[in-house]
Amino acid sequence: MIEILPPSKIPLARKSGALVAEILQTVRERATVGTNLLEIDEWTKDIILGAGATSCYVDYAPSFGRGPFGHYICTSVNDAVLHGLPHDYALADGDLLTLDLAVILGGVAADSAISFVVGEPRKEDTAMIDATERALAAGIAAARPGNKIGDISHAIGTVLREAGYPINMQFGGHGIGSTMHQDPHVSNSGRPGRGYGLRPGLMLALEPWIMEDTDELVTDDDGWTLRSTTGCRTAHSEHTVVITDDGAEIMTLRSS
Ligand code: MG
Ligand code: MG
Repeated sequence: MIEILPPSKIPLARKSGALVAEILQTVRERATVGTNLLEIDEWTKDIILGAGATSCYVDYAPSFGRGPFGHYICTSVNDAVLHGLPHDYALADGDLLTLDLAVILGGVAADSAISFVVGEPRKEDTAMIDATERALAAGIAAARPGNKIGDISHAIGTVLREAGYPINMQFGGHGIGSTMHQDPHVSNSGRPGRGYGLRPGLMLALEPWIMEDTDELVTDDDGWTLRSTTGCRTAHSEHTVVITDDGAEIMTLRSS
């Protein structure tokens, strides 16, 4: 099902997106060498519940995971890229951490992800994170009325490919509205001019993610965390946007 957000719900989407942005920014500022992934989950839980919001993750039990997830945020470290299950691990200097979370507030969901390095970054990691952020910006720029989903996919894929990274087509962006995951699927590579037509009120989560030298994933023994098959490092950037009359508004915008 594809939902179109009525204008009356846009302010609610902004509030939901602002909460997700606040959580990611807070964790980014607090996380340091020695921070435990379970602490990050607790911080997230406190902010979500304090805001009167609902986690999209705690009870999430899709076919691809050993559900329910049971935690409030995905914490994927180094070779882990998607659905990282928080566990008893203290971050080490140079760890590449990806945070991904979604909440529902006022009946509207928001979903966003960031990658950053704790401590001293390797230049290869900085380049990979930068590529996902540039791909996300290109996808958002293509998200405007008159364009199609394929135009977003093409814009994202072009940046990732030109940066030299393989692209996995199994997981990508998606429609979002009263629930976290909806149609249409937004692949991280695709043909321009194809697919569903973009129109004002359509809310999408766009999420380029990459692994340094492979497009293949393996599921961790925890039944959730997806890692690169080669053990290479990974990165992921995601925003929730709403198509407007003349472009796209980012609901989950952070100040940094
Ligand atoms: Mg997400
Ligand atoms: Mg998403």
